[in-house]
Amino acid sequence: MTRPVRVRFAPSPTGKLHIGGARTAIYNWAFARAHGGSFILRIDDTDPTRSTDENTQIILRALRWLGLDWDEGPEIGGAYGPYAQTDRVELYREAAERLMAEGKAYPCFCTPEMLEADRAAARARKDPYQGYQRRCRCLDAAEAKARIAAGEPYVIRIKVPENRGDVVIPDAVHGEVRFDAKELDDFVIFRSDGTPTYNFATVCDDALMNISHVIRGDDHLSNTPRQVIVYEALGAEVPVFAHISMILGADGKKLSKRHGATSVEEYRDQGYLADAFVNYLALLGWSLDGDTTLIPREVLAREFSLSRISKNPATFDPKKLDWMNAEYIKSMDTQAFIQSILLPQLQASALISSDAQFDSSWLARVAALVQPRTKMPADAAVVAAPLFQDAEHLSMDEASVAKGLTGDTVGLVLHRAQEILSSLDNDNWHAQALDTALEVLPEELELKKRLVFQTIRVALCGNLVSPPLGESIELVGKDDALARITRAIALAEQLN
Ligand code: GLU
Repeated sequence: MTRPVRVRFAPSPTGKLHIGGARTAIYNWAFARAHGGSFILRIDDTDPTRSTDENTQIILRALRWLGLDWDEGPEIGGAYGPYAQTDRVELYREAAERLMAEGKAYPCFCTPEMLEADRAAARARKDPYQGYQRRCRCLDAAEAKARIAAGEPYVIRIKVPENRGDVVIPDAVHGEVRFDAKELDDFVIFRSDGTPTYNFATVCDDALMNISHVIRGDDHLSNTPRQVIVYEALGAEVPVFAHISMILGADGKKLSKRHGATSVEEYRDQGYLADAFVNYLALLGWSLDGDTTLIPREVLAREFSLSRISKNPATFDPKKLDWMNAEYIKSMDTQAFIQSILLPQLQASALISSDAQFDSSWLARVAALVQPRTKMPADAAVVAAPLFQDAEHLSMDEASVAKGLTGDTVGLVLHRAQEILSSLDNDNWHAQALDTALEVLPEELELKKRLVFQTIRVALCGNLVSPPLGESIELVGKDDALARITRAIALAEQLN
């Protein structure tokens, strides 16, 4: 019988949630969703010097922002809790005691000096095995007990069975990976300060939580043979392992701060959409079919499979992320764009107040102009600004003014434009009629088209990057359009 799918994401709260961790979380989440399983969040906070509650909170917030809902874990609990390792130390201790009672683990009293002396001696006699020399492996049980009772410091080591042979890991990504058990030492599972080591705590948890698949970064591949030894000692079923490749920067080096923003929060604060970010990270090492790049969350949650994870390292490409973000914004439903991007951005830029009311069809038409020109949410306010300011408050971009409102012919162009616009009645106040009416100007004035429209655009929108002219003029309305030209004429007179 195959086990029910139970996977976990187990961050150490020693820092924020980074891109690599976020991708691991996404893969675990998607794998659980695609296989009707459970996604468990566990906080690996056994390193008390580096773990903080604040980091845990930051990680939880980042996961919630990414939309990776967990079925068991902090804040929601579950049948296999508690879900923070510091709350589980008793369980690890019990497990270690049991292994000692069964002769599968033993206390070791060797001091660092003894260990170093043993290593040096092994080196000197060119012993192929230079690891722990297993001094305490055969200590008499009564003697060990007495030394513990006398308060002598000790660690607990696991007995790697003699003649264990190779530990073979059928990794779902890398295929069969082999490790020589001889290299594994009788490694420490409990330190002398009473804290469990990562390899031990993690396996106790994964075994007790009935984890079926361990999907994590391949920096943990080298820990896996030790972990298999712990599963075997505990008599627990070994999960399926899937070790995912590193994420590299464009220079081929492991992704780090040098490559720019690395924490999920930074991306959130820069305005990336969670859906786009999840889609982009999912593709760093996994593909749906090798071609499709826009993969909505529902598809990921339905189709994700370990068999399509690539062995090769993936390269993080911020340009591709930007492209994807723009695609997600473009394809948003208009109302969603208005509510979640346009209005909040206008408010953030103080272009509207929080209780401002707008005609909904007018707003939908504004959105139709702004949405395709919005790559990042903040662009929306920049593009839409001229439509939300009146003539008096229209911000005039300095460089655009220098280009559009200086020169001998500016006054002429603006006066004629004003006459043309005043002559149009309300029935004709729509984009196409406005464009057609203004189109005659260059020929009539014998001026270059580019110059004429540069001037009109700066007069009406205050910049040269605004949405199409006819549409913009239509949306600001006749009175305001005329007032804008009047203001620009005055400004041009000062400048020229
Ligand atoms: N706490 C470990 C880490 O953050 C996770 C280890 C694992 O997934 O086994 O790297």
